[in-house]
This record gives sequence, structure tokens and C-alpha cells, in this order.
Amino acid sequence: MDSKISSELLSDPAFVAPDPEKMVAHALEHGKRGDPTSILKSMDEYCWKYAKRSMNIGDAKGVILDSLFKERDPKVAIELGSFVGYSAVRMARFLKDGGKLYCLEINPEYAKLVEKLVDYAGLLDKICIIVGTSDEVIPTLKAKHGIDKLDFVFIDHMKALYKPDLISLIKNDLLAKGSVVVADNVIYPGAPEYLEYVRNEPLFKSTFFKSHLEYRPEVEDGLEKSVFLGK
Ligand code: MG
Repeated sequence: MDSKISSELLSDPAFVAPDPEKMVAHALEHGKRGDPTSILKSMDEYCWKYAKRSMNIGDAKGVILDSLFKERDPKVAIELGSFVGYSAVRMARFLKDGGKLYCLEINPEYAKLVEKLVDYAGLLDKICIIVGTSDEVIPTLKAKHGIDKLDFVFIDHMKALYKPDLISLIKNDLLAKGSVVVADNVIYPGAPEYLEYVRNEPLFKSTFFKSHLEYRPEVEDGLEKSVFLGK
């Protein structure tokens, strides 16, 4: 993505950012209670129609996330950056009994929407919402939240935090051999320092999955899957 296209995207009035409350209200109105798939579909319809600068992973990259999540079949997972809970619903619906997805969200208003959406999807018992910043919360995951290791990590928050937070997860002994880390938006807006790190660090085996930016087929984006090869 060159800077010219990037600035054009941000200044294009046709591509508005979504109102998070309206997005969730739409999902509750048009999605069926207890049916995650219909809820996700209603949110995708809303975003394709009204909100082409949304921050949720969207349907195209969403199906890739689905397959990576199902392939790892985690018992304990975390997402860094939940926004309104779209990806939380996407992933939590595949958790087996006793499985848990921790949703870390910095914005308390967004966190309330996550709870509302996930509850409507019937998945509230499978998630734990933590409000705070990743640099503060990651070091507390073991002692405060009783997490031993994370089988699956979905990184989708501030791009500049991808690399330091991954390193923090390693330092805090939260990854095990075979833990899968999936990062969104590695091409757009882009996370070059993160990619440089996971693609060259011997502790990881990394693979890129090409797709496009959420609800913007003309803008290249993708997910980076990195398998932890350490202890
Ligand atoms: Mg994203």
C-alpha cells in the first residue's frame, strides 16, 4: 500500500467508519439470538453497505481466521483488540466445551458492546473480557487470570504494538510449542516490524495468507500465521 492510496482511502467520504453502537444494534435486530453465523452475516451485510472502513476482520479474512482457529482447535485463546466482538463471535463459536477466549480491549465502551454481542450469540460462557492495555494486562495473565499457556493468539490492535506484545507473550511464558499466532492487517495498514520479526526469528515458522482489507476488495491485505517452535 503506497501512501497516496492510503491517504485517498482515509479521505474518501464514501467510505465511512462505522458507528460501533449502530453496528451492534443492527446485528441484534437482524441476526438471530443464539445463532453466531446469522449474527456475523448481519454484521457483514451492514459493513458492506454502510461501513467500509470498519475495524472488524470481515468475511473474506474471517474465513481464513476460521480455518486457522479450527485447525489449532485451542482450549485457551486470546485476542488483542476486540472492537465490538465480531472476531470474538467468529472464534468462540468453534471452542469446545471448557474452552475459553480472552478478549482484551482497551476501550471500555467497546468492551460493553463485545459483552452484548457475544451474549446475544449465546457464547458468553466461552469468553472472558479484560479491559486494559496489552502492556499492562499481558504480564498479569498467569497470576490474575489463571492462564498457563495460550494455544491461539489473534493480534488485531494497534499495529505498532504487534511486535512488542508478541515478545511480551514469550517473555511471560505464555506460548507453548505449537501455539499459533495470527496477526491481522499485516499489509494494510501494515505491520512491517512485526513481519520482519516473525519471518526471521527462529522461534517462529511464519506463513502469509493473502486476502483483502475488510469490505474493500481493491485493497490488498492479509493474515500472518506464526507457529511458535519454542519450548
Ligand atoms: Mg483488523
